[in-house]
Amino acid sequence: MHVIEAIKSSKKIFISLEITPPNKGQSIEDLYRVIDPLIEFNPGFISVTYHQPQVVYEERDRVIYRVPKRKKPGTVGICAAVTNRYKIDTVPHFILGGFSKFETEDALIDLHFLGIENIFAVRGDPAPGEKSFIPEQGGHRFASELVEQISNMNRGIYLEDLENAQPTNFCIGVAGYPEKHYEAPNFDKDLQYLKQKVDQGAHYIITQMFFDFQVYKNFVERGRSIGIKVPILPGIKPIISLNQLSSLPRDFHISIPSKLVESMENAKSSTEARKIGINYVKDLCQQLIDFGVPGIHIYTMGKGTATQELLTCLFK
Ligand code: FAD
Repeated sequence: MHVIEAIKSSKKIFISLEITPPNKGQSIEDLYRVIDPLIEFNPGFISVTYHQPQVVYEERDRVIYRVPKRKKPGTVGICAAVTNRYKIDTVPHFILGGFSKFETEDALIDLHFLGIENIFAVRGDPAPGEKSFIPEQGGHRFASELVEQISNMNRGIYLEDLENAQPTNFCIGVAGYPEKHYEAPNFDKDLQYLKQKVDQGAHYIITQMFFDFQVYKNFVERGRSIGIKVPILPGIKPIISLNQLSSLPRDFHISIPSKLVESMENAKSSTEARKIGINYVKDLCQQLIDFGVPGIHIYTMGKGTATQELLTCLFK
């Protein structure tokens, strides 16, 4: 089912999950151990992140070889395996880095033939070792261009003229940033670019994680005021350790309210800090539900226990 239909037809609060492929060489069973305990909460879909490889150059016999080293391959395979095992819709993330427009088109055709009709379209983080995002030669620079390409394929428009070309049928999600994307000059400009993605055909938005209800509310209200009408799913990360008070802002360019920071820092043990974090995020989710959010999207980041604790506090 298309994510947008699943959200709209859900009678209960709609829960979805984001998972990350295991590192190369690890087993898919590791991932099943993350998902298994979360199935009882009936996730409406599971999205699977995509990671650009680090490109290194190696010399062998005086010839320089370009060697892409992908730490977390397998996004599409995981989507097929998860759907098969749990009978739940999966959403592969699709990035720009490493793909020309033609390679993107071919990869989209693969997904279409596999029966995958949901895509989460993001630019992607800079490749490991790079400071900023570098588009592939002949590839896209911004996520809105990928959304436009997918929307064109949904209308039967491919990169070359094809007679009687069959349209694809993708439902498209895109990323939004309640605290603005770190490269955007300001909040309003970033919001305009988000609207561009929606105007190009995105059906829904999932936000970057945030820890302050007012930040989400402001983002939604400002988005609505410039004509963004699609559902905006809040992205939620259960926070469980003191380390995350610095690693989450560093890695995701978000801020954590003083109230939460101080409560966790004053905890007498790591177990108490974990409890404070989970309770805080539970209260945040409750505020969001009371506000009438279309659903809650939880970042598991390869660890299901914190998500299970959060969902248990919320719904049991
Ligand atoms: P864009 O929408 O292209 O925006 C990137 C920047 O360019 C922003 O600053 C924006 O304001 C600006 N911009 C946009 N359009 C224009 C324009 N026309 N002219 C000038 N500036 C413009 N990363 C991964 O590598 N893999 C994943 O699987 C992944 N999944 C994610 C899931 C979610 C829910 C979120 C929130 C993020 C995810 N990311 C993932 C991270 C994401 O790739 C990065 O945040 C990336 O830096 C931006 O991606 P974007 O799609 O928002 O880019």
